[in-house]
Amino acid sequence: MKRLTAYGFLMLLLLSGCGAQLSPDEAQESIQVIAMDTAMLITTYGERSPAAAYACEDTIRDLEKKLSRTDPDSEVSRLNNAGTLEDSESELRSILIQAGQYCQKTGGAFDITVAPVVAAWGFAGGDGYRVPSQKELDRLLELVDGFAVKGNGQTLSLGPGQSIDLGAIAKGYAADKLVGVFQEYEVPRGLAQLGGNVLAYGDRPDGTPWRVGIQDPAKPDDQNAFAGVLELTDAFAVTSGGYQRYFEENGKRYHHIIDPATGYPADSGLTSVTVAAGISDGSGAMCDALSTALFIMGEEKALDLWRHWDGTPFELVLVTEDGRVVVTEGLADRFTPDESGGYAYETVS
Ligand code: FAD
Ligand code: MG
Repeated sequence: MKRLTAYGFLMLLLLSGCGAQLSPDEAQESIQVIAMDTAMLITTYGERSPAAAYACEDTIRDLEKKLSRTDPDSEVSRLNNAGTLEDSESELRSILIQAGQYCQKTGGAFDITVAPVVAAWGFAGGDGYRVPSQKELDRLLELVDGFAVKGNGQTLSLGPGQSIDLGAIAKGYAADKLVGVFQEYEVPRGLAQLGGNVLAYGDRPDGTPWRVGIQDPAKPDDQNAFAGVLELTDAFAVTSGGYQRYFEENGKRYHHIIDPATGYPADSGLTSVTVAAGISDGSGAMCDALSTALFIMGEEKALDLWRHWDGTPFELVLVTEDGRVVVTEGLADRFTPDESGGYAYETVS
């Protein structure tokens, strides 16, 4: 089941108050982009807002062309098919370097070489959903090793039989690039929602922070059901969960975030993970990679990583299967619980 709907859009529009709170002298452009199998919404402000919004679309489409594993001509497909790629532009190389770092920092929970396993479950487009046999998973898991992805000189290479899937990092990387577009077009403020990846640039026209709802993972069909609302200024927030892309077989639900330790959809006691960080070089990709990895790692390991992190600082909102919302202390004054969901709220330090 895939919910490529307008729900996310509505959520953001309602909460950001786009339109309603505009100062009349500030030009604004909002465009919808369907790319990377995801519904995206880009809103830019300022004199050059239309050109800026369409430049964002061009950036996203250019990245999709390079990074899609379902487009046979993309750089990723060529690398997956041949095992090596002469890399002239270094964009893919930059993503692979970042992916390698997050693989290492998350103890292998984030691993782009999980691609063959993701494909076996049917989550990469193609042959349809199915539950692979344990024998098949065991064989495919032997191919999962993020450290076998190499860049030597101009050549990118994979280990024998490996393939990569950038679905858990490419939208975050794209969001990082949109910051550059906003700067180039002198956009004073803007909002980009690339599926579960949000870039809140500057503040709202009325000077208050952007307000971004965190979907209640227990009610994915209810666009007004939130675990809480985040207030963001110059920040990324990325949410991963198993409630939007999944299939059901014999009454059991199987989602798309695969634990490389088991080959099965992650089952860590979390129903969603939101990672937020201020805008800085690469922090969009970081939030994307970490939201996926921490969803796999579970509450205890996620908080442990947060406490001992030595990179760009980030904060978390974790929603647990047993009905709690855990917020790290750096976000506490920017998070408003939505009590109607019946969750118990905790702040941790
Ligand atoms: P995230 O949690 O950010 O990422 C989950 C995704 O990452 C999974 O769907 C899987 O692809 C991958 N993944 C799973 N487990 C791990 C792990 N342990 N470590 C690292 N990665 C993992 N989907 C289609 O069905 N058809 C398409 O044509 C298509 N084209 C795409 C083109 C591009 C350029 C990109 C980036 C994605 C495309 N997708 C496509 C994938 C779709 O966008 C993904 O389902 C989406 O990226 C999932 O993102 P998310 O933010 O929901 O979840
Ligand atoms: Mg991700």
